[in-house]
Amino acid sequence: VGLLVQKYGGTSVADADRIKAVAEHIVRTRGQGDDVVVVVSAMGKSTDDLERLAHDVSQAPAAREMDMLLTAGERISMSLLCMAILDHGQRAVSFTGSQAGIVTDTVHRKAKIVEVRADRIREAIAAGEVAIVAGFQGVSTARDITTLGRGGSDTTAVALAAVLGAEACEIYTDVAGVYSADPRVVPEARRLPRLSFDEALEMAASGSEVLALRSAEFARNYGVPVHVRSSFSWEPGTWVREEDPTMEQAIISGVTHDTTEAKVTIEQVPDRPGIAATVFRALADEDVNVDMIVQNVSTAGHTDISFTVPNEELARTLSVMEKVVKETDASGFSNDPGIGRVSLVGAGMRTNPGVAAKMFETLAGEKVNIEMISTSSIRISCVVQEPDVERAVRALHKAFELERGTAGGDES
Ligand code: ADP
Ligand code: ASP
Ligand code: MG
Repeated sequence: VGLLVQKYGGTSVADADRIKAVAEHIVRTRGQGDDVVVVVSAMGKSTDDLERLAHDVSQAPAAREMDMLLTAGERISMSLLCMAILDHGQRAVSFTGSQAGIVTDTVHRKAKIVEVRADRIREAIAAGEVAIVAGFQGVSTARDITTLGRGGSDTTAVALAAVLGAEACEIYTDVAGVYSADPRVVPEARRLPRLSFDEALEMAASGSEVLALRSAEFARNYGVPVHVRSSFSWEPGTWVREEDPTMEQAIISGVTHDTTEAKVTIEQVPDRPGIAATVFRALADEDVNVDMIVQNVSTAGHTDISFTVPNEELARTLSVMEKVVKETDASGFSNDPGIGRVSLVGAGMRTNPGVAAKMFETLAGEKVNIEMISTSSIRISCVVQEPDVERAVRALHKAFELERGTAGGDES
């Protein structure tokens, strides 16, 4: 028999009927002979509700207590799902992240998994039980309860699949797979039958929520095949796995967008060795996740440096900037929370010139001004004003004919 890890997102377990439908599917899978480990998210939007409640009682909720609060959401869904499975006569047992042996570092609200001690899960499997694990949570090396960052149940699932040597990790969600763009923004977006680990990673890093970034990293680092699919239609979805060198790569697989970042510019810093190091060391020491960085050409020995950070880290970034401006003799700094990022991702970009030119022409045709550009070997990202983001995404999707589909056939 093989082992499957199945993860169910919030919408998949949003109410009692959904939980019962998921329970039936798990029992059916188990009935086909596979061992099943299940990872579950909090019901519906309950994590958002808990977060709101925290801000209702406190101006700056303490991170440790926030983790204690938010992990309650997954505790509710895991126990309810387990009860529904038990009703079918299938043995099952639920575990919190801590009980499941998910050990993390001590950074509350975005903890990293450092070790998985999955003995209790292995014992449950050996006893013929379906193990239900609360997603998005763990216990730190300092014995405090932690969370893995929003969307973190994907990470729990892929990490468990890696450690348990599962055949695949199935990510059940409210769309039928990874699409060529967010279907909420581009109704013509197509489901991608398959995606390489690198493409999935770039799509996650550039804003597609369907697979959390850390989970894509785990999948690639440990070679875990991931199947993203719908818990509403149960049809085959998108397989994320090692690139197949015998298959032709799509030039562009998808266009992604992200409006959760802000742009910060430090103005007129002296252009000499060590300045960038000073600026970004100060940010790193405050745990700020810097994303894109652009330095202008210098004029008269001074230059501007712009970078992007998550909106929620902007306040912290600005207080670091106050200090850094003084230390470096910069003239000042500015920020713009109203930006967005639009990216094209595709493995075939490596061997096909002209993608960037066509991207910039398309944006120009829409009168969208590009404020920053960054690239990797399989991604091009442009920072634009936030109100232009959706128009830009739709125009790029059309210009690259992504509604027509990509090279290669379907697989399931
Ligand atoms: P879950 O609660 O199941 O984890 P998420 O909300 O985290 O679900 O992720 C699924 C959502 O991601 C979809 O409803 C979709 O709107 C959004 N999304 C963004 N980009 C994409 C994309 N390229 N393909 C599919 N879905 C995407
Ligand atoms: N419940 C958590 C969240 O909403 C984790 C997850 O759903 O993956 O972010
Ligand atoms: Mg998610």
